[in-house]
Amino acid sequence: MRQTSMPPELRELATHLSSIEQVEVETDKPLGPCTSYRIGGPTAVWAAPRSEEGVRRVLAAVHAAGVPLFILGRGSNLLVSDRGWQGVTLYMGENFSGWEFQDEEAAVRAGTLWMDLIRDAVDRGMGGMELMAGIPGGIGGALRMNAGAFGREIEALTVEVAGCFPDGSPLTARRHDVNFGYRCAPQLERVVITSARFRFQPQDPRTLAARMNEIL
Ligand SMILES: Cc1cc2nc3c(=O)[nH]c(=O)nc-3n(C[C@H](O)[C@H](O)[C@H](O)COP(=O)(O)OP(=O)(O)OC[C@H]3O[C@@H](n4cnc5c(N)ncnc54)[C@H](O)[C@@H]3O)c2cc1C
Repeated sequence: MRQTSMPPELRELATHLSSIEQVEVETDKPLGPCTSYRIGGPTAVWAAPRSEEGVRRVLAAVHAAGVPLFILGRGSNLLVSDRGWQGVTLYMGENFSGWEFQDEEAAVRAGTLWMDLIRDAVDRGMGGMELMAGIPGGIGGALRMNAGAFGREIEALTVEVAGCFPDGSPLTARRHDVNFGYRCAPQLERVVITSARFRFQPQDPRTLAARMNEIL
């Protein structure tokens, strides 16, 4: 961990966070390269957990320290100020990616690139997401704003969303409890989304691929 001239409470917190297993911590890390626009200043503290336990422990520590928290996904929909962020950035990107299909359902980690999941679903003949091909970013960011295209939103495939509240306590919500709206999910506003389960409809992979390629 690099040492910088940051406020003592942030330095202390960074030292504590770096003692948590499976959490990568950096200080004074430029955020620009983590976003599509590639501009913006540094975050005082950067924490990239690899496990749900890591997420919970980071959140509990940040909450107890009373330090501002920002959740960063794949950075496709963010413009970071040149002044940066005087708080903790919780990174939920490639460090928190991956998915597993079981029959018609997939359990997907929040940092998974949506497009990677869609391509795999299409190859497997699992339909429902192909119309949303081309939307950049990760699953967590997509759920947070109920992203969609061509009249179909991520809500339509969602079975369940899992995450943590700012104090680290867990949340599991069924689709109807989330109360998704047009490009919003009010119940998830203060939640760090860690994963979701989606249900697909089996279809001919060639039909799905044709539909996807028409959009891309
Ligand atoms: C060129 C372009 C085209 C787009 N086209 C569409 C479109 O057709 N339809 C559409 O709906 N959207 C579209 N978007 C919006 C964008 O793709 C989505 O908002 C995307 O899903 C955001 O994901 P991300 O991982 O990049 O989030 P980020 O940009 O990293 O973050 C966006 C917001 O989500 C929050 N967030 C991210 N991850 C989590 C998490 N794990 N838990 C809680 N909150 C989180 C962040 O705090 C932030 O508030 C487009 C964006 C661009 C740049």
